[in-house]
Amino acid sequence: MTELNPENADQLLTQADTILQCTDAMLSLFDSDYELIYANRAANDTFGTEPRSLVLRLANDNDIHMITSALDEADKYRVEMEMRTVNGARWHYMDIQRIHDTALGNYNLLVTATDCTDRRYAQQLAHKLAYTDALTGLPNRSALIRFTEALLGNIEESTTFALLFMDLDRFKVVNDSLGHAVGDKLLIEVAHRLKRAVGSKGMISRIGGDEFVAILCNQSDPQQLRDIANSILHTMADPVTLSQQKLRVVPSIGICCYPKDGNTMAELMEKADAAMYLAKAHQNNFCFYDEQMASSVHNSVKDRMGLENDMLYAVDNHEFELYFQPKISCADLRVSGVEALIRWNHPTRGMVPPDKFIGIAEETGQIIELGDWVLKAAMKQQRLWQEQGLEIPVSINISARQFGAENLVRTITEILQQTGCTPAMVQLEITESMLLGDVDKVNLTLTQLSAMGIRLALDDFGTGYSNLAYLQQYPLDILKIDRAFLADQKRSMLMETILAMGKVLGLTIVAEGVETASQADWLIAHGCDQMQGFYFSRPLPVIAATEFLYDDKSKDGDALHHAA
Ligand code: C2E
Ligand code: CA
Ligand code: CA
Repeated sequence: MTELNPENADQLLTQADTILQCTDAMLSLFDSDYELIYANRAANDTFGTEPRSLVLRLANDNDIHMITSALDEADKYRVEMEMRTVNGARWHYMDIQRIHDTALGNYNLLVTATDCTDRRYAQQLAHKLAYTDALTGLPNRSALIRFTEALLGNIEESTTFALLFMDLDRFKVVNDSLGHAVGDKLLIEVAHRLKRAVGSKGMISRIGGDEFVAILCNQSDPQQLRDIANSILHTMADPVTLSQQKLRVVPSIGICCYPKDGNTMAELMEKADAAMYLAKAHQNNFCFYDEQMASSVHNSVKDRMGLENDMLYAVDNHEFELYFQPKISCADLRVSGVEALIRWNHPTRGMVPPDKFIGIAEETGQIIELGDWVLKAAMKQQRLWQEQGLEIPVSINISARQFGAENLVRTITEILQQTGCTPAMVQLEITESMLLGDVDKVNLTLTQLSAMGIRLALDDFGTGYSNLAYLQQYPLDILKIDRAFLADQKRSMLMETILAMGKVLGLTIVAEGVETASQADWLIAHGCDQMQGFYFSRPLPVIAATEFLYDDKSKDGDALHHAA
């Protein structure tokens, strides 16, 4: 062992100092009052020479108390803290050690620090990405789960919160017809509005597609929750303008509460989802979860799955049938055409109305096969009547997915050829939402069909966006006014306006849902062209429809008789 003489000691110290000065680690020695005794070059470069107190170098005032109390417990403390440096606030990973000063008999603090700002920011960014929905910037499903689990982990006797599950009605139609880019913009706007509506009352997240979940802390009072749901609906009420279209977004909201409806995240999500499903089914904007309702939801889900499955075999099993409802001319009260309306003769459920299965067929894509079947059956029947001397145009309903399909025009051309039906005897009924898509594509389809001689009708006018601009933009021939207009006396002014405008645009106007003689009289007096409704006839199976047509034909002579 070498004897440590003063000359050697000096040499060693100089060497140590050189090492300390060269390292990138920041080394600082503070006395027990946190005043700086020594700093190496890296530390001086970072903090400058002033201030010399550790307290003033910490970015957050309270951090010094953390250090003090940690060192009361142990000699060493490792921590990441934000520091005031010559380059602004930076994060430092610090190793703080208490060192006994034998000369003075007190304790000094040796702080070894490295800058960990970049790593921290990278971590924060990764964290943010993992918990943020990239499209809307809202917290995502993982964030929702973490937030709710944190709430559930800190439960006190009095804790309550509500979970609101929201889904946008008809969002799929927007996405399918206007494209994903517009759908995305709509979601961003919706997110924005939801965030505003929920505000500080809780957190709103997007958990996928058009589904949003809000957690409302300390809320379980039904009236308060009703108010919040209403304020959400209120912020959604203004239409969103995108691609020069005004889109109305209507959410359906399911609401459940902790602890009344469930104790776990999974349970609460399931119940809010069930309540949302019921809100949709009953066309309520929002719905609270309750036990009794749950079983009805369960049944309706089972019901739907059953129908979905049975539909796979229904075309091949010849379970579908077309009914025909006559349309009556206002001029002479004679039959001017028939509308083909599909019916499903289900082997065990009996007659299933189209409202129950067209939507499902749309979603599963089976509507294409079903739509082809309807086109074929309707045109075959038209041709048969034609051969029997009953010259009667047939209207056929086209669904959104069918209309959007690439090969619609080709399919129709083929079916016309196969059945020998004349295009002039075919009318296709489409709805406004189908016109929302790519204008050029929609126009091409309609123009091709129109050029073939097929007449085009806009169905259910008045229920959707009721945009009169379409009527001029596209080669439409017929406007069918929804039955809500007749049912609602207050709207007769509007009905008059539509009738007048239809005349100007040269459209044939058909009023749907005529149920009484006085409605028929009113329509005739106000210049409507055709009427359809239970007052004249319900939709009829082929045999009855054929009788109705023969009956009508027998009046041919009357007209001649009158003319003579
Ligand atoms: P829609 O095209 O508006 O058809 C008219 C509906 O109103 C028919 O209901 C008809 O029975 C009913 N209706 C007619 N007159 C009256 C009336 O005076 N009062 C009342 N309350 N109702 C009346 P349906 O047959 O149940 O069809 C419902 C909807 O299902 C149709 O509405 C149509 O959108 C769709 N649909 C029916 N058949 C087909 C089809 O073959 N293909 C497609 N894609 N959709 C179809
Ligand atoms: Ca129709
Ligand atoms: Ca209609």
